[in-house]
Amino acid sequence: MDVQRRKTKAVSVGNLVIGGGAPVVVQTMLKTNIIDLNAALEELRQDVAAGAQLIRFAVPDERAARNIGILVRQSPVPLVADIHFDPNLALIALESGVSKLRLNPGTIKDKVARREIVLLAKEKNIPIRIGLNTGSLPLERRRNSESLVDFAVRVMTEEVDMLRELSFENIVLSIKSSDPVENIAINRKLAQCFDYPIHLGVTEAGQGTEGLIYSVTGMAPLLLEGIGDTIRVSLNGPSVDEVEAAYHLLRACGVLKRGVHVVACPTCGRLERKTWDVVANLRERLKDVEEPLVIAVMGCMVNGPQEASRADIGVALGKVGAVLFKKGQVVRVIKPNEDIAEVILSELKTGEVEKKL
Ligand code: SF4
Repeated sequence: MDVQRRKTKAVSVGNLVIGGGAPVVVQTMLKTNIIDLNAALEELRQDVAAGAQLIRFAVPDERAARNIGILVRQSPVPLVADIHFDPNLALIALESGVSKLRLNPGTIKDKVARREIVLLAKEKNIPIRIGLNTGSLPLERRRNSESLVDFAVRVMTEEVDMLRELSFENIVLSIKSSDPVENIAINRKLAQCFDYPIHLGVTEAGQGTEGLIYSVTGMAPLLLEGIGDTIRVSLNGPSVDEVEAAYHLLRACGVLKRGVHVVACPTCGRLERKTWDVVANLRERLKDVEEPLVIAVMGCMVNGPQEASRADIGVALGKVGAVLFKKGQVVRVIKPNEDIAEVILSELKTGEVEKKL
């Protein structure tokens, strides 16, 4: 099923377009302080290799800001400077060639300084993401009966108005909550109120499986409604994991057709032959393939033949071997002494897949 994307303005970020019907952009954020330039560049290279299209980095102080220019020149993808507290760092970032600025009005309260940043961004045609988090909203301004959802969107409206007063329309919006259900409500309202592109994410989602589940819960319903023009999965872990998770999420929601999905049964007492290693091997060997492919590895004949025949290539294990399907047709029987993963990989050795194996 194809998702009907929400209509938004298009915002150019370097060579990318966010919104305006463009494919959802996958982004992440460096965990390294860019003061350590070599470490930051290494992390950046790994993220790009994993498929990151846009990379954000923190600018904690002026020492870090001095490295922005080098980072920008060496990065193959557009970069976003993430600025808090010190407006001067935003001005340095803009002068250093970043493709986008993320500002959190909750941490830069000086309106004169914010105005100076916006005017420089306008002069340089660099977009600004107004990035609010429920953890840094100016709660002292919340009205008694006002819900957090309404309050967050009201704060965003004030920020957008401030930019519009300066005739600045090069805007991406985000309001992130660490509560997935609240995140959904806030972003639905945001999408109703504005036609600027939305950066989606569940902030501070956590670590490992927990972080993934919280991220998916807070983003998938929105993506399925066509809301979200760029996403970041915020994990307490390596940034490459965020990129991998983002692609899985977009693919699972039918928003992006890219990469390999291995349909694999969970296995049970009917399993005819171990499949965990087969699936792990296939996922590892095919992780860099961009061509959209579905591979099925099914443990027995209960659901096996149908799932395997619906995939681009699939196997259904049986008592005397595994039946190999390609585009719905039985190709052959894989004997018990054959390596199932290698048989599938040899069938895939065509076109783009071959180059990546
Ligand atoms: S396909 Fe067969 S082995 Fe796999 S979970 Fe279903 S019944 Fe169990």
